[in-house]
Amino acid sequence: MKKRIAVIPGDGIGPDIVREAVKVLDKVAKAYSHEFEYDYLLAGGCSIDEYGVPLTDETLDRAKKADSTLLGAVGGPKWDSLPGAMRPEKALLGLRSGLGLFCNLRPAILYKELADACPLRSDIVGDGLDVMVVRELTGGIYFGKKGRIDDGNEAYDVMSYSKGEIDRIARKAFEIARRRRGKVTSVDKANVLETSRLWRETVKAVSEDYPDVELSNLYVDNASMQLVRNPAQFDVIVTENMFGDILSDEASMITGSIGMLPSASLRTDSYGMYEPIHGSAPDIAGQDVANPIATILSAAMMLRYSFSMAREADAVEKAVASALSDGLRTKDIASEGGAWIGTSAMGDEIARRIV
Ligand code: NAD
Repeated sequence: MKKRIAVIPGDGIGPDIVREAVKVLDKVAKAYSHEFEYDYLLAGGCSIDEYGVPLTDETLDRAKKADSTLLGAVGGPKWDSLPGAMRPEKALLGLRSGLGLFCNLRPAILYKELADACPLRSDIVGDGLDVMVVRELTGGIYFGKKGRIDDGNEAYDVMSYSKGEIDRIARKAFEIARRRRGKVTSVDKANVLETSRLWRETVKAVSEDYPDVELSNLYVDNASMQLVRNPAQFDVIVTENMFGDILSDEASMITGSIGMLPSASLRTDSYGMYEPIHGSAPDIAGQDVANPIATILSAAMMLRYSFSMAREADAVEKAVASALSDGLRTKDIASEGGAWIGTSAMGDEIARRIV
């Protein structure tokens, strides 16, 4: 299969980690007879330096023309004093909205080899964790009408959702659960919020098209508690924008290693943008110490969700697990005083294990 991938390394460690993900994609292409063509684009601080803006129309257009986008991270102290609209992070918002990405996937995976990094007791996490948070990304309170009245002494943010917006994210969650352990937990606040009552009704209606997937509902306060009490009960969590923002951060912190977690932002067709959840880590940029695994696992998600290459995605994820179980660590996940290898060596070791 031939695929065109827009590659946006960005700033800080972005180029270091994206290089390793491309190395792994090249190995997949070779091992499974695919052809991946890369279109390298600038976004974030490096785009400000080159073009004066964090995201140009041309970059967005070229990203649109690709089959999917792989992104490193943007931002850094060099651009911190710029006004809001000119900040590197604006590139992310521009890409997400310009590409119409409404569904954010944040897997929280705890490998048993890294169980020590988990802040929860081992009897709570057991044999490792694998929870997928599916967050609605373009609706809800973050995008509602907002303002001040009464001479600025009262403020409001409107939360609204349409049935169509809920229906499309629910379908994504059920489709994903079908490829996993077949369980969806829908999280809302239906005892208080009208948007949540519409959310619950709509998710239930969608579930009728997926009789093979089990649906349960939780209020968001209970869900945040259950995530630390018994996280292994969850397979796929689907929720609206603000609840998803909070719960996905909570879920990822349970795994304890920011350099390990990938993410995907999707729309109704197969297009997606894939990126690690961490930032550009300017403190370690260009030193060959960043952990490339989050970006490599983001590339695996691209294979799975945009290119329907499940075998290939499995191969990448297995290669990561095998490198970890062979004791290979980057500095951030090495035990105190333990041995570690550099960014590029970790990329080599993972690529080498793809068969
Ligand atoms: P950060 O995620 O970049 O770094 C937090 C800490 O984690 C740092 O100590 C860093 O060294 C470490 N870290 C992060 N990723 C790592 C990796 N792959 N391997 C090893 N260690 C890693 O968050 P921050 O320091 O708050 O932000 C730095 C810059 O990144 C800021 O300009 C911020 O705006 C930007 N940022 C960008 C994104 C994005 O592009 N999606 C997300 C968050 C922050």
